[in-house]
Amino acid sequence: MWFVCLSLAGTLAGCAHTLVTFDANGRPTLWQRFDQSSGAAETVGLPGIFAAADLPKRTERRVGQLQIHADFPLAGQHRLIRELDNLRVSISQQLDLPISDEPIHLYLFADLEDYQAFVRRHFPQFPARRACFVETDTTLAVFAAWQERIAEDLRHETTHGYLHAVVPGLPLWLDEGLAEFFELPEASAGLHKRHAAHLAGRLLEGTWQPQLERLEALEDAAAMSQDHYAEAWCWVHWLLRTTPERHRLLEDYLSDLRHDPAAAPLSVRLRETEGPPTVTTAAVRQHVEQIGK
Ligand SMILES: [Zn+2]
Repeated sequence: MWFVCLSLAGTLAGCAHTLVTFDANGRPTLWQRFDQSSGAAETVGLPGIFAAADLPKRTERRVGQLQIHADFPLAGQHRLIRELDNLRVSISQQLDLPISDEPIHLYLFADLEDYQAFVRRHFPQFPARRACFVETDTTLAVFAAWQERIAEDLRHETTHGYLHAVVPGLPLWLDEGLAEFFELPEASAGLHKRHAAHLAGRLLEGTWQPQLERLEALEDAAAMSQDHYAEAWCWVHWLLRTTPERHRLLEDYLSDLRHDPAAAPLSVRLRETEGPPTVTTAAVRQHVEQIGK
């Protein structure tokens, strides 16, 4: 099973995922879900990617869980690399998750065109993006171009890596919600102003209501809109930043997921602790109104 997250270019927020399974001959049986019309895309030997001759390798460094491969000089003490290393502890502490030593490979390209050419050669099905996270049975890897939004992109994709190293069965909505939460600089404390303003605007228009069950039903990242990314972040922010009980509920859910990917979903747990979905929806609405001002 492959898992891929791609940071979206331009003004779009968030990223997308694809899941790829392999048949008995090792050929992908399901490719990407970004463009349903290209379902017959040619197969590519993804498992060979990590032996590819054109992977960045000028700088090789290990910093904590991160194995860095860059095609340009990059100090292990670079501020962003230190920040990404610290993110492991921050995620672990805020979600009460263990720390893993499983390497997360960061393949960094100085030049956006070199990165895009690499992606076109090895992942021809992927849409043009600035960064992507790829998970295989044996490897967690991020590929990215060192451009203007590299810090946000790497925090987002590396969050997927840290999470997948310890919670392999994370539901799509929560995976993205947490990546959106932790992609922000630490000083933001998880408050994604763009998402908050977007949701507050949708509430004012009367065109959106929070509904966790709708997010939980998402299995296809291609179906995830900006509303979905913003709402996924919003539920995570509401859980982590309002009451200790809600924070603990999310920690317990993650802990259960580590041992049982089919653990009761969060919406079921919230019914026990908060009451019927209408009560929870009202609480999240109120949260959006407060933070989206
Ligand atoms: Zn993502």
